[in-house]
Amino acid sequence: MTKKAYFISIFPTIFNVVLNEGITKKSLTKGIIDFEVVNPMDFLKEKERLDDVTYGGGPGMLLKALPLIESIDFCKKKSKKDSKVIYLSPQGHLFNQSIAKKLAKEDELIFVCGRYEGIDNRVIESRVDLELSVGDYVLSGGEIAALAVHDSICRNYKGFLGDENSLLEESLENNLLEYPQYTKPKDMESGKVPEVLLSGDHKKIAHWRRKQSLGKTFLNRKDLFSKLDLKKTDLEILEEFLSELGYDSDRISELLKEL
Ligand code: SAM
Repeated sequence: MTKKAYFISIFPTIFNVVLNEGITKKSLTKGIIDFEVVNPMDFLKEKERLDDVTYGGGPGMLLKALPLIESIDFCKKKSKKDSKVIYLSPQGHLFNQSIAKKLAKEDELIFVCGRYEGIDNRVIESRVDLELSVGDYVLSGGEIAALAVHDSICRNYKGFLGDENSLLEESLENNLLEYPQYTKPKDMESGKVPEVLLSGDHKKIAHWRRKQSLGKTFLNRKDLFSKLDLKKTDLEILEEFLSELGYDSDRISELLKEL
């Protein structure tokens, strides 16, 4: 069954350009995904503005509630399903892989993209099921955030990826970052492919990959360790990684105590 996304945005071109490239274009052609952009401008009365100043004062303009509410209701009526409405917002829950997987189970999703200072809160109060943030920073609009969230959800749809095994070892699956990967040529000025990957010894390759995954997660995303079910062998592998980086055993013990 085709999975459909509605994007409510005043900049429809962004979606047409981004989604009609690469893997999303392929999936659109195959009917795995479909999308529609609904422009709240189309719900304005003659000469009415989409934005206005905020009550109580303050800088910037706010998107008015009614055109957004009418856009959402239009999508809901069209879909004839109780589709979830997601508002992209820096105030939302931090989006992650596990939310992507849950949302991939829905047949249709409605994404609301804010602009300017954001949207009138009555849209959130009356229509939004979930507020999602793509990170602790502020973007100029919800379009890039909606596309990022949508893309990550799509990767979990059946038939979207050429090889669904790609999902299994991807970064953040099981709260670990992926190991480094290499392709041809084996040897070049910028470096050589690690010998173990050319050995054909699958046990050694798996050990090396686990070590690199644990090591990279330790160096870049120590916060993920609290979500990991670390086995004794993992700690030994991590010790090996740190010792190869040149840390002595006292420093390694200190670092591992922090986990
Ligand atoms: N005044 C708002 C606030 O402080 O929460 C920020 C408004 S922002 C300039 C304009 C729009 O960009 C928001 O309505 C939202 O749709 C989108 N946006 C900005 N940062 C985002 C983030 N981190 N995640 C998701 N959407 C974001």
